Amino acid sequence: MELILGGLHHVTAVTGHAAQNVAFYTQVLGLRLVKKTVNQDDVSAYHLFYGDEVGHPGTEVTFFDWPNAGPNRPGAGTIAAIALSVPDREALDWWTRRFDDLGVAHWPIEERAGRATMPFVDPEGQRLEFVAADGTTSATPWARSPVPPDRQIRGLHAVRLSVRRRDPTVRTLVETLGFRPAAEYSLPSDGAGEPRLVTIFQVGAGGPGAEVHLEERPDLPFGQVGIGGVHHVAFRAPNKEEHRAWRRRVGAAGLRVTEVIDRYYFESIYFREPGGVLFEIATDGPGFATDEDVDHLGERLALPPFLEPYRAQIEAGLRPIEVPDVVSPGHKSSPR
Ligand code: ZN
Repeated sequence: MELILGGLHHVTAVTGHAAQNVAFYTQVLGLRLVKKTVNQDDVSAYHLFYGDEVGHPGTEVTFFDWPNAGPNRPGAGTIAAIALSVPDREALDWWTRRFDDLGVAHWPIEERAGRATMPFVDPEGQRLEFVAADGTTSATPWARSPVPPDRQIRGLHAVRLSVRRRDPTVRTLVETLGFRPAAEYSLPSDGAGEPRLVTIFQVGAGGPGAEVHLEERPDLPFGQVGIGGVHHVAFRAPNKEEHRAWRRRVGAAGLRVTEVIDRYYFESIYFREPGGVLFEIATDGPGFATDEDVDHLGERLALPPFLEPYRAQIEAGLRPIEVPDVVSPGHKSSPR
C-alpha cells in the first residue's frame, strides 16, 4: 500500500481562558466553534475545536483549556507558529485593516518564499500567521461567520517547527512521513545573530495545508508548552487501514508510537519526532457531525459515548464559558 499523508489534520494549542479564546477565534477570526468537548485524558479541561462550516480535517485549530498551565516558554522542540491560509493578497490587506480596527497585534505583510505572509498573535500570545496562497483546501465557508466568505480562513496552511538539530527531524519528515524539501525563506534574527533559515517541506500536492516549515535553532534552550503555545500537530490519514499502516511504519522507523486511540471523532496515534515535537496521525473520519446536527455544532458540551455516563460529574467540574462580545456591532459588518 502506498501511504501518502493528506496534509495537516489539526493543531492543538493551550489556552488559559476559554471564554476569551472562543471570543477571539469566532468573533475576530470568524472560525466556527465546531465542537465543545473535554480533553479525554483530563476531563476537567475543555477541548475546543474551531474550523470551517463542518470542521473538515485540515481546518481545525483546537485548544485545551488549562488555566494553571503557566505561560508558554518558546524554544527548541516546539511548534513556533501556526500558519493559516487566506484566499489572496486582497484578503490579507482586509485582515490588516480588521486587526488595526480591533486592536489585534500584528506585524507588516512580508514575502516568504514568494508568498505574502502576515504574522499576528492571539490575546494570549499564541503565534499565528496568515498566508495568501493559491491552491484548493478542504474548507467550506461558514455561512454565519462575521467574516465575509471571500476573506475567510481556508484552513491550516503550515506549522513551523523549531528544533536544536535539523537532520534527525528531516529524516523523520522525509524518510518516514513522505515529505520533500520544496523551498526556503529567511526570518529576521530574533537577537543579535544571523537571519534564520527556514525550509519548507511539502507532502502530497503541497501548498495550503500540506506544509511543514522547519527551523534549526541550536542556540535555543528547549521550550516548555504552556498557555499561548502549541501542544501538538496532527496529520491526516484517509481511513483506518492506512492509519494502522502508518502506525506500523512509524514504529518500524524506531519511533515510540502509542496504540491506536479512539477519540470518537477520529482515531489517533501519537509519537514524538526526534527534535522533540509531539506528532499525531488522525483519521479523516468519522468527523464532528457524528453526534450533533451540522446546524448546531459546538452549542452544547459534547461527550463521546464512553464519557456520557459521567456527564453530571464532568459538567460539575467545568466552569461555564461566558463568551464576551469583543467585536462591537459596528465592526460586525466590517467594510470590504
Ligand atoms: Zn490532536
